[in-house]
Amino acid sequence: RVFNFSPGPAALPEEVLRTAAAEMLDWQGSGLSVMEMSHRGKEFMSIAAEAESLLRELLAVPANYRILFMQGGALAENAILPMNLLRGRASADYVDTGEWSKKSLAEARRYGGVNIVASGQDSGYTRIPDRADWRLDPQAAYVHICSNETIGGLQYPEYPDVGDVPLVADVSSDILSRPLDVSRFGALYGGAQKNIGPSGLTLVILREDLLGGALPCTPTAFDYKVVADNGSMYNTPPTYSWYIAGLVFKWLKAQGGVAEMARRNDAKAALLYGTLDASDFWLKPVAREHRSKMNVVFRLQDESLDEAFLAGAKARGLVQLKGHRVVGGMRASIYNAMPIEGVQALVDWMREFERSHG
Ligand code: PLP
Repeated sequence: RVFNFSPGPAALPEEVLRTAAAEMLDWQGSGLSVMEMSHRGKEFMSIAAEAESLLRELLAVPANYRILFMQGGALAENAILPMNLLRGRASADYVDTGEWSKKSLAEARRYGGVNIVASGQDSGYTRIPDRADWRLDPQAAYVHICSNETIGGLQYPEYPDVGDVPLVADVSSDILSRPLDVSRFGALYGGAQKNIGPSGLTLVILREDLLGGALPCTPTAFDYKVVADNGSMYNTPPTYSWYIAGLVFKWLKAQGGVAEMARRNDAKAALLYGTLDASDFWLKPVAREHRSKMNVVFRLQDESLDEAFLAGAKARGLVQLKGHRVVGGMRASIYNAMPIEGVQALVDWMREFERSHG
C-alpha cells in the first residue's frame, strides 16, 4: 500500500480495513455482511450503540449532549444547522477563515441573517483574525467557526471564548486529532471521511437544550430533535459507514485515545514543518501560530518543478500531494491514520528533491 496524503476521503488505519475485510461476508457469526443488516435488527443496534459509546468515551462527551449519526456531509449540515439552531433569533455570527467557512456562511444566509464578525480575507486567509477584533453580537443564535480549514491549511490552536452564545464548530478535518472540551460548544459537526471513517456519515454532537425549534421548512429527517428522539434511525442511517466509524473508534482507544493522537500528530507536524522551515526552497504561506497540524500547505518556490516533485513522490508511493486548485502548490494531509513513517518518507523525498534541484 502507498502512503496516502489525500485530504479526504482519507487513509484509514490498516487494522480497521483488515477487520472489515475479515468480517465482510459474515459479521461475528451472524451469517450476514453489515451492509445487509436491518438497521433496526439487534446486530446492527449493538454495532451502533458500541460506536456511540466509544465516541462518548474518546471525547468525554457530557451526558447533556446528544450524538447524531446523519447523512449529507458537512455541506448539507451547513444548511441543516441554521435551520435547527436559529430558533427565532435574527441572525448568527460567522468567522470567515477561508474556503470552508465561506461556504458555511453562504449557506446559512439562505435561512437567516449572517454577521461576518471577523474575516481573514485581508491577510489572504493566511491567519485567523485575532479574537480581540471579533465584533460579536450578544443576541446571535450562535457563533460559527471552522476548526481546521482543510484547503488553506489553518487551524485554531485553541478555541475562542464567546461568552454565553453557543459556539458551533465545523470539525470535519480535525475531530479526534486532539483533546477538546465538548462542554465549551453548543454544537460540533463534521463529515466522517477524514478522521472518522468512510464518507456518507456526518456526525453532529449537540447540547440537548438546543433541540426543538427547527424552522418549519426543515425536512423532518433533518430536524435534530426528530433525529435525536429516534436514535439517528428516523430514516435509514448510513449503516456501513457507522460500523467502520465504530472500528476506527475502537482502534483509536487501543492506540491510547485522543491524547496519544495529539502527541503523534504534533510529532508528525513538527517533522514536516521543520523540514519546510529549514529552507527557502519551500514557501509556507500560513502564519506559524495558525498552521494546521492536519493539512500542511506549502509551495515550491519554483513552480515549474511542481510536476517533477509530484511524479517523483508518486514513484516512491507518496500520493495525493497536489494542493487544492484554489490555493495551488502542495498539501500533505496527515490525519490520525497517517503513520510517522509516511511523513518520514515524504521529508526524505523532499530533501532529496531539494538537493538535486535547489
Ligand atoms: N468542511 C470542511 C472543513 C471540510 O474539510 C470539508 C470537506 O473536505 C467540508 C466541510 C465538506 O464536507 P462534505 O464533503 O462532507 O460535505
